[in-house]
Amino acid sequence: MQRFQGKTVVVTGGGGGIGGATARRFAVEGAKVAVYDMNLAAAEKVVAEIRTAGGQAAAFQCDITDRAQVDAAVPATQAQLGPVDVLVNNAGWDIFKPFVKTVPAEWDKLIAINLTGALHMLHAVLPGMAERQYGRIVNVASDAARGGSSGEAVYSACKGGLVALSKTLAREHARHGITVNVVCPGPTDTALLAGVAEGARDPAKLIEAFKSAIPLGRLGQGDDLASAIAFMGSDDASFVTGQVLSVSGG
Ligand code: NAD
Repeated sequence: MQRFQGKTVVVTGGGGGIGGATARRFAVEGAKVAVYDMNLAAAEKVVAEIRTAGGQAAAFQCDITDRAQVDAAVPATQAQLGPVDVLVNNAGWDIFKPFVKTVPAEWDKLIAINLTGALHMLHAVLPGMAERQYGRIVNVASDAARGGSSGEAVYSACKGGLVALSKTLAREHARHGITVNVVCPGPTDTALLAGVAEGARDPAKLIEAFKSAIPLGRLGQGDDLASAIAFMGSDDASFVTGQVLSVSGG
């Protein structure tokens, strides 16, 4: 079934682990996928994989913390692939440090990427979606927003903010045919998780601790998240809005 035939989907952080799997999933199901990443080479690699598999995609270098780059990328996407039907706000960054050891410059960077970046993207695409009376927004937060996570205080605050923002936008935009939902990964086997573990005294031990706390007994994989994100981005979820789905092995 081609759930996304004729649809244009933007995936931010689409060059990364969860974003790459998500971009590939939408493309396999018929979407034209705009892969946004500040790392153009990573975005281009995902686009090449999609095209090799027979799908449609284009790479856009876009640092979501920079409004000018967002304001350039969205019309460029529309010109190349059509107006944006689905936005997956997935780009993110994290560090692992006790809160009292973090410094304001780190808070600023965490907030800029994990919260303000999502705001820029939403502000850029929502007016067009409202005009066309159709839109699917999937914001990728974290289980850290729901239960807290030692060593990830400011990151958790950003992701909690993203959850609250999503619930509010879901209410504001329901009358425009736009749904806004959240997918919360648990520990997932990507570069981000490896980077977080680097902040621990014993990275391997931290990953093992994350894994052993997961009832289903393994780390998440990009494809686990892609399935849930694609559901929230599809018309199968047309009566679902303002919801938060953990995809974390329990
Ligand atoms: P990843 O590091 O594999 O991918 C993140 C991608 O985002 C990278 O390609 C990176 O270049 C891009 N990116 C970072 N800052 C950007 C910016 N300012 N503008 C544009 N692109 C930017 O990480 P991932 O694990 O795939 O993370 C995807 C999302 O999932 C993030 O929002 C993350 O917070 C969330 N998440 C991940 C985990 C996990 O354990 N991996 C757990 C909970 C939540």
